[in-house]
Amino acid sequence: GRLGGDEFVTILPNIRSKEDVIGVALKALERLRQPYLIQGLSLELSPSIGISLYPEDGDSIDTLIERADAAMYAVKQNGCNDFRFAHGPYNQKLASLRHPLERPLQGSLERQEFELVYQPLFNTQLGTVKGVEALVRWKPLASGVPLAGPGIFIPVAEACGLIGSLGRWVLQQACLQHHAWQEAGLPPLPIAVNVSLLHLLQQRFADEVEQTMLESGIDPEFLELELKASAVLKHFDQSSSVLHVLKQQGLRISLDECNLEHMNLRQIGELPLDRMKFEHAMLAGLNHDKASVAIANATFAFGYALGTEVAVQGIESKEALQALLAYDCELGQGFYLGRPMGADEFAQWYRQRPLH
Ligand code: C2E
Ligand code: MG
Repeated sequence: GRLGGDEFVTILPNIRSKEDVIGVALKALERLRQPYLIQGLSLELSPSIGISLYPEDGDSIDTLIERADAAMYAVKQNGCNDFRFAHGPYNQKLASLRHPLERPLQGSLERQEFELVYQPLFNTQLGTVKGVEALVRWKPLASGVPLAGPGIFIPVAEACGLIGSLGRWVLQQACLQHHAWQEAGLPPLPIAVNVSLLHLLQQRFADEVEQTMLESGIDPEFLELELKASAVLKHFDQSSSVLHVLKQQGLRISLDECNLEHMNLRQIGELPLDRMKFEHAMLAGLNHDKASVAIANATFAFGYALGTEVAVQGIESKEALQALLAYDCELGQGFYLGRPMGADEFAQWYRQRPLH
């Protein structure tokens, strides 16, 4: 039956094992993903399936649907085309988060509730500023809305279809800010914008970027798009072709939250990358553990061999910076080096630095 919008419910009676359910979910995914030919266009769906089981997940229809809904929402957050069972604390957290935020997010752009903050990226060996990353913040006007960072509200915006308009706003705002800084005489600095894969895969994304660059007057070589590695690799073929188009437009591409231990290295080699960003946690076990040191060294060497820059983010202390300096990795970012700042504060901070 259809619950509403694009949500449907299937009830499976007489289930003997979880495998029975998995079989049905896989078959449904397979069938739903077949392209539909409509007026000469081949259109594809990206289904997301959440599954709850009676009696483990609840003994009322409402609870069972709510838990299946939360599991489906978790799948959407991970880029669709998948299924997930409702067990585990992670999904419970999402179930309780979904309702409080989805409603307040509706109309939030029109109410101008977003702003960008800017965090510098450094050449840690020279102590110079190499770039700046735009990070979105949400300040809901209504009282009683729980405060949430982008790690929480971006997935909600993705799940409820707001990510395209929010992403467009972020991109435009960042490019306009870059232009304003230039006009104010700030030395030119590349600006990085985080892009959700769901936005990148929207049909007109490359055109939108081109138009935004034209309208704001930003030189493409100063615009960098950051994409989460896990999402790109999960939808490799589609993302790769869009990224190649964007690269042709002259802008820079950066892969965020890389972890070579979980990535297909050959696929990374096929992407038109300018930079790979790693978490500082990658260096964590350093002093104790030979394998961690070897992996970190190999990781940076891999990046350089592919001709990309490598950066480590999340540097929170002097010790963390020192740990990084022991490696052949030039770029670093983190609270210890420079916190995210408002646009004016950033300009003032950057101007006062001795070296650019
Ligand atoms: P990210 O791109 O990996 O951004 C870095 C995050 O780490 C930011 O959190 C930043 O404030 C935080 N950070 C910076 N230095 C440190 C540090 O030393 N220690 C720790 N613990 N954290 C540090 P934020 O702003 O909450 O953003 C979280 C994630 O949300 C971002 O991760 C990015 O994936 C996403 N995001 C942020 N802004 C946007 C946006 O405009 N669009 C999209 N699609 N995603 C965004
Ligand atoms: Mg980022």
